[in-house]
Amino acid sequence: MSQDDRENWRFDTRAVRSGQIHTSEGEHSEPIFPTSSFVFSSAAEAAARFSGESPGNIYSRFTNPTVRMFEQRLAALEGGEACVATASGMSAILATCAALLKAGDHMVASRSIFGTSVVLFRNYLGRFGVETSFVSLTDIGEWERAIRKNTRLLFLETPSNPLTEVADIEALARLAHEHGCLLVVDNCFCTPALQRPLLLGADIVIHSATKYIDGQGRCLGGAVVGDRERVGKEVFGFLRTAGPSMSPFNAWVFLKGLETLGLRMKAHSANANVLAQWLSHQPGIGRVFFPGLPSHPQHVLAQRQQSDFGGLISFELEGGKAAAWKLIDALRIISITANLGDTKSTVTHPATTTHGRLTPEERAQAGISDGLVRISVGLEDVEDLKEDLERGLK
Ligand SMILES: *Cc1c(COP(=O)(O)O)cnc(C)c1O
Repeated sequence: MSQDDRENWRFDTRAVRSGQIHTSEGEHSEPIFPTSSFVFSSAAEAAARFSGESPGNIYSRFTNPTVRMFEQRLAALEGGEACVATASGMSAILATCAALLKAGDHMVASRSIFGTSVVLFRNYLGRFGVETSFVSLTDIGEWERAIRKNTRLLFLETPSNPLTEVADIEALARLAHEHGCLLVVDNCFCTPALQRPLLLGADIVIHSATKYIDGQGRCLGGAVVGDRERVGKEVFGFLRTAGPSMSPFNAWVFLKGLETLGLRMKAHSANANVLAQWLSHQPGIGRVFFPGLPSHPQHVLAQRQQSDFGGLISFELEGGKAAAWKLIDALRIISITANLGDTKSTVTHPATTTHGRLTPEERAQAGISDGLVRISVGLEDVEDLKEDLERGLK
């Protein structure tokens, strides 16, 4: 197989085949390398590896063959030059910020990001002299006004968690580059199967592999994808020094997850589409947030930017927190758990769980009302999911 053939592979072929290395044993499935360190044939070879003169493995905090297979496969799917795998999605975000920012720098982030990302930026990066301004995901003017001389990075998730707001990646990439900033996109909800931010102009893509990349709720992991210099050298440099590395076993689970990613994202999207339409006609339910609904404010943008709408839905119960908790407690199939992107459907009450550490003002600004319920629609039969929800709506 020549390198040229690989570059012409389409998405699903890359998802199944990219990055695989073969040992002399002739195995068909990807091997796991559960080893902390690697041996050298001589003292001279050890010295050459450590000095960087000769390439190769040294220690699994730096590189590991199973982890590298995952990194190369994900890079091929996102269209990036380099990928660095991390122990979790949060450590991917931390590694990116720690590698690319310094005290005195400023970043602008969407207000509608994962609650823990807000806490990381405000409480921890702030303590090291990196200040973050929070803006509306969908208001480009607000992004522009928040940019200062020392702004280095714009950070967003699209669609957002849990309200599924959609940002115009192309427009924000242009804005970032006009001001000498990097655009970093957390692509957790869509995955490269539905959206490729690097092709739309973003500089760096972040993943919580814990979600759809695993797809079955088994392992924690994350990844940073981008160019050779910033990701391949700088983010990798932080990772091998600070140590939030991915374990080879988890990398193997994620590699196998990538093989079915395209199929699963189509199926999640199809189920979510049916459920969102159905929910919008149920009594006691106010707004339904799903980019596939024509009533969604960025429906047209989502159609242009994504190849499908994904598996996340949220909706407001008119009866507020009491009605939301009653609905959740009546469910027998959908699991009450904070994870998302699983084959099993999951439900959360964002105001008291994922976004519970935000102040009430921050929650109100992010649009997280007390009646809001989020569902990550799994791969069960959608008729069973409807019946499950109907029980709680009665
Ligand atoms: C879960 C999540 C994260 C954090 O990932 P972990 O693997 O739990 O550390 C980051 N961003 C988004 C959008 C998430 O949903």
